[in-house]
Amino acid sequence: MNNPNEFLSLPVLPGCEVEKYYNLEFKSTDEIHHIQEKLFMDHLKYCGENSPFYQNIFKTHCIDWQSLTTLDDITKIPLTEKDSLSEKNSKFISVDASEIVDVCLTSATTVSEPTPVLLTRNDLSRLAYNEQVSLSATGLQKDETVIIAASIDRCFMAGLAYYLGCIKNGNKVIRAGASSSAQLWQLIKLVKPETVIGVPSLLNRCGEDALKRGEDPGQSSIKRFIGIGEPLRDKTLQALPIAQQLENLWQAKTYSTYASTEMATAFCECRYQQGGHLRPELMIVEIVNGNGLPVPPGETGEVVVTPLGVNGMPLLRYRTGDLSFLVDKPCRCGRNTIRLGPVLGRKKQMLKIKGTTTFPNILLNALQGINGIAGGFVEAHLNSDGTDRVMLYAAVENSAIEITPVREKVQAVARVLPEIKTVTVKEFENKTRVPDKRKRVTFFDLRHTT
Ligand SMILES: [Zn+2]
Repeated sequence: MNNPNEFLSLPVLPGCEVEKYYNLEFKSTDEIHHIQEKLFMDHLKYCGENSPFYQNIFKTHCIDWQSLTTLDDITKIPLTEKDSLSEKNSKFISVDASEIVDVCLTSATTVSEPTPVLLTRNDLSRLAYNEQVSLSATGLQKDETVIIAASIDRCFMAGLAYYLGCIKNGNKVIRAGASSSAQLWQLIKLVKPETVIGVPSLLNRCGEDALKRGEDPGQSSIKRFIGIGEPLRDKTLQALPIAQQLENLWQAKTYSTYASTEMATAFCECRYQQGGHLRPELMIVEIVNGNGLPVPPGETGEVVVTPLGVNGMPLLRYRTGDLSFLVDKPCRCGRNTIRLGPVLGRKKQMLKIKGTTTFPNILLNALQGINGIAGGFVEAHLNSDGTDRVMLYAAVENSAIEITPVREKVQAVARVLPEIKTVTVKEFENKTRVPDKRKRVTFFDLRHTT
């Protein structure tokens, strides 16, 4: 460094490039389309000039990226598979190694090894901006105190993103982590936060444990929960039992947010709680069917994303493996952007019970709100005829619990009936708490292990 003062003049986190389009979501749909098209062209040019992976894709598929001129042309680009990102990881790196400032790892839910996702300074700024606009859509004001009950270490992107976004928003941020509901309760009493960001089941346990000790979570300072990692809404965007339970217990509102390390962009609900809004300056979203073709709003398919303005490892039409649907009805908040429904399941976790498709999530959601059931997990095996054999294990607090009402509830909610078995809460804890896994493991797919 020639000038020793040069470093001091660099802001730690300058604004990112797309920040000038702040509030684009409130503009007309025509204007949103126009800006998204421009941003898509910029992104395509960036990939065409800098990404070895996409340069190879364009060459192999005889695509002249310079001839693509509209947003609709995006469908001419092949989908990017999760396996490609993991197997050809270094080919996605589109900057000089000296520009990388952070290394994140994916949470490895589908491949055995976590995949590195490298971030530049601009990518970190983009991540902060993304969370700032997402979290503030829930009504989060500057100067409020936020507890992050999620991991911020071990190369996880999510906790870091919430932290940066809240700091950028002007909040006081408490990094509580996700390990202990007792510690979370202590912190809530100590710092009196208005908002908690965390996994719904942890927040629920924290409230229930407080109640058992004779304390009332409804009287606490909390007025907003931003739920991560587990769904809060059903297919019709109505509150799932866990969301109702949280709102009653804490006298607070729940908001759902969905993102992944690869997309580095969140879909977050606004104060009307009707699906996660897309930030049009940050991402293009498509839903595709089994043949990889886009489907219209309302139809379920795989979520495919093109995060805009990413420099380190840019992606085009990345398959998330998550299944959901788009909502294009106007939202009362005035944002004119498309919304994403809840994640209904993972494509690889799709189960068939007597010909009807379902997902582990849907079966586990059906157990929510049943008295005396602390949770559950699902095991899938293969029958000798090649069909799925699905077992739903319910963790019972008391072995005398009647199984018939459980069966009836599962059939009514999930519209299929797997085999249902009971386990003790201890057995449930031992089975689902897997060392080094950030989230509780509740699906064991044993269909292709032999
Ligand atoms: Zn809205």
